[in-house]
Amino acid sequence: MCGIMGYIGDRDTTKIILDGLAKHEYRGYDSAGIAVIKDGVIHELRTTGRVHQLAEKAAKEHFNGDFGIGHTRWATHGGVTENNAHPHMSSDSRVVLVHNGIIENAREIRADLEAEGIRFHTETDTESAVQYLAWVYKGDPKEAIVKLTKRIRGAFALVIMFYDKPNEI
Ligand code: GLU
Repeated sequence: MCGIMGYIGDRDTTKIILDGLAKHEYRGYDSAGIAVIKDGVIHELRTTGRVHQLAEKAAKEHFNGDFGIGHTRWATHGGVTENNAHPHMSSDSRVVLVHNGIIENAREIRADLEAEGIRFHTETDTESAVQYLAWVYKGDPKEAIVKLTKRIRGAFALVIMFYDKPNEI
């Protein structure tokens, strides 16, 4: 069972998210990650280790941002690798998300998007959702998310950020 987090507020974004992920640890996980947006740019940090290792990495890199999301993963699609760890970002760097669950028609969505020239970078079912969102995103997150929920099948809880929507999750 994975854990998902999102934080918007005046406090230390990275610390709040990492503390939240640590509280989810008892549920079990194989990898962890965090993404923040700072001045309109998405930054990610991921590891196949424990949350405290992610925290050490974050401290070393002075990793922080204006708001963010986090994830502890229990892999269902794709191996336990740093590259498959969430959050996942679209190839155009405009959308980033974490996902709990399974997207059953991920292969079909991936094939359609690859035929449109979009390059995938992971083995996960989740990537199909973020690439699809970026594909349909024209500046209105709600409109894009409604399109996404009509396209994907399965069980999913998603926490999503768009690069140009400050303080919106
Ligand atoms: N199906 C996704 C993956 O394998 C999410 C798994 C989860 O809920 O942690 O990355």
